[in-house]
Amino acid sequence: MSLDIDAVRKEYAILGTMSYGKPLIYLDNAATTQVPQRVLDSILQYYRTSCANVHRGAHRLSEDATAQLEAVREKTAIFIGAEDARNVVFTSGATASVNMAAQMLAEQHVFEGCNVVVSQLEHHSNFVPWQQVCKKIGAQLRIAPITEDGQIDMTALCRLIDRDTAVVAVTAVSNVLGTVAPVKEIVDLAHNEGAVVLVDAAQAMRCNMIDVNKLGCDLLCFSGHKMMAPTGTGVLYIRDGLIDELQPAVFGGGMIDSVSAEETVFAQAPARYEAGTPNTAGIIGLGAAIDYLESIGIDKISEYEDRLLMHAEEGLRSIEEVKVFGSPGNRHGCLSFEIRGLHSYDTAALLDRLGICVRAGHHCAQPLIDTLGVSGTVRVSPAFYNTEAEIDRFCEAIKKIISINVLQ
Ligand code: PMP
Repeated sequence: MSLDIDAVRKEYAILGTMSYGKPLIYLDNAATTQVPQRVLDSILQYYRTSCANVHRGAHRLSEDATAQLEAVREKTAIFIGAEDARNVVFTSGATASVNMAAQMLAEQHVFEGCNVVVSQLEHHSNFVPWQQVCKKIGAQLRIAPITEDGQIDMTALCRLIDRDTAVVAVTAVSNVLGTVAPVKEIVDLAHNEGAVVLVDAAQAMRCNMIDVNKLGCDLLCFSGHKMMAPTGTGVLYIRDGLIDELQPAVFGGGMIDSVSAEETVFAQAPARYEAGTPNTAGIIGLGAAIDYLESIGIDKISEYEDRLLMHAEEGLRSIEEVKVFGSPGNRHGCLSFEIRGLHSYDTAALLDRLGICVRAGHHCAQPLIDTLGVSGTVRVSPAFYNTEAEIDRFCEAIKKIISINVLQ
């Protein structure tokens, strides 16, 4: 793990700031990551030199902006192992991507009497859209349970997927437990029964597992703001074949070939899925973030983050009053815990006063939190700009909170 951590941290001004008089320790990266200077610069550069609407202008600025946006599409395709740039649809985030996918698949793939399979690990963004589609169509939503240690129960999943399964939608990495799902195995199971597979990779983009070619999934979605890119950016990958077969779910400018009073002919993909003016500045920032992550190396990032997370888990498990949820073996990005007898929001609020940012609550994954039998958890999620020393300070802070709490 030869990461030059000092050099990395220099690009994040915010990491050197204080919070409530203490050095800021940002451990809420599963929610949103910080943005390095070079990504901020790329956005400013766009606004300073080529701010214009894309795909429509008859002038140089528009052509410049279009070229920059399309270059990011190519970069993104290579980054995720897609067949071609045309398989990459820009959205405002993972939530928008799943909703769009669910609406489009609902039109052509999900019928009354069919079923859609998700797992108990899902974020609401990959749960509620399918639940609503099933309700509307009269299809069945099947939820694969998890095992005691927090992994998808593959035996149960296998039983749930059958010839009537239209879609299997699974997360690659849980945003609560950090569980890394056996995505390739799930894709193969689903394809054997003729189902379409969507992978929610929102938490997996800094993990060295995302290659749509290797995974063989039909659709994949993620957000830029969990991979050092700006908020309001996201991607929906759609594989060859499906991308020309689906009908758009959102309509407007930029996605048509021709419009008359009687009929509209949609443009070729990906334009047909990108109605309206895109978040050009954000997408340029996403491109800069991809360059940045690749310049460090996803393997290196993934390995470093896994080591930090393991360090955090060891530290937390050594504290008697702490319960760590699940032990899936293969964990990435985050883990959940509680201080016994203390509400998750209180723990997070006390950590905040010690300069430490974590998240508390149900993490938009209520079906999973219900299974864990709690009202919420505290979630710690380091990124590659965090250090072991910060994790140690976090564990010391937990001990301090416990000691204060005991004294009361
Ligand atoms: N899926 C997972 C697993 C997530 O963690 C998140 C974000 N917490 C989402 C989907 C939704 O992402 P966004 O809010 O960026 O649309």
